[in-house]
Amino acid sequence: MRVIAIDGPAGSGKSTVAKAVAARLGLEYLDTGAMYRSVAYAVLRAGGDPADAEFTANVARSIELKVGLDTVTVNGADATLEIRGPEVNRCVSLVAANPAVRVEMVSRQREWAERRGGGVLEGRDIGTVVFPNAELKVYLTADPAERARRRAKEVTDLDYETVAADLARRDTLDSTRDVDPLAEADDAVLVDTTGLSIDEVVEVIEGLLA
Ligand code: C5P
Repeated sequence: MRVIAIDGPAGSGKSTVAKAVAARLGLEYLDTGAMYRSVAYAVLRAGGDPADAEFTANVARSIELKVGLDTVTVNGADATLEIRGPEVNRCVSLVAANPAVRVEMVSRQREWAERRGGGVLEGRDIGTVVFPNAELKVYLTADPAERARRRAKEVTDLDYETVAADLARRDTLDSTRDVDPLAEADDAVLVDTTGLSIDEVVEVIEGLLA
């Protein structure tokens, strides 16, 4: 099984880079952040409280989830835009810190890759927890100001300050939580994408695979 793990904080370039690497290698791509976002969205849709661990765990276990290259379907309805909205941004890190949610999502991620004989997976814990034996582990970083600038360009309705504050808050929650925190695997290759174009980052990764 050929698994490439791409981890790093929000705005480090993971999604764009992972998609490009997958296309070059002829592998499928999975955005695992979209899975945690979808659980958070489904909890809110059901009128639940994301801080209610039991309720949230039950949603995670029963959610019908299709994470495609460009679209995300949650319980049969398109939720591509909604899972990137401010309500989900606010509570996704809390949902993702729920141990039962992680057990369920990690199991689905492994199954996804096994069914396809591998893939490019991006997230926070792919190289450390989901696939510790991945063929290649890349940990992408970038200067926090540049990460916020990139995100602010994607979400046209929020200003830079709001985006920067949201990223900083999620970084802290994601890297200090008890279960599977955002961390660089010992054997990951650290790539600082500050000042690099997507093509340059993809080139670096291709060089690592050669
Ligand atoms: O990658 P993205 O920013 O969309 O991820 C949203 C949130 O999902 C992260 O802030 C983190 O809390 C959670 N996440 C996670 N583990 C992953 C991927 C995402 O905890 N593998």
